Amino acid sequence: MIVIKCPSCHEDRHEEELEYGGEADVVRPTPPDGASDETWTDYLFMRTNTKGVHYEQWCCRAGCGQWFKVARHTVSHEVAEVIRYEDRFAYQKEGGE
Ligand SMILES: [Zn+2]
Repeated sequence: MIVIKCPSCHEDRHEEELEYGGEADVVRPTPPDGASDETWTDYLFMRTNTKGVHYEQWCCRAGCGQWFKVARHTVSHEVAEVIRYEDRFAYQKEGGE
């Protein structure tokens, strides 16, 4: 059972109340007509599939409806960090991106 505290409404939400939105910070190529086929393929299909801490996006579907980002361990489901959608993970602030 995954329980995540929404950073917008500050309520604990069980995974049934949330919507998983895949990997966080996957950026659409811009300008779209200038991107190569390889760039589009990477954007549409290639994900990290991490065993360990994975950076993903979730929606507070049963609550406030806001999207937010979560650092979650894919084996233990331990939630290491929850941030608002427009914020950056701690590793990104440290220049690790
Ligand atoms: Zn919420």
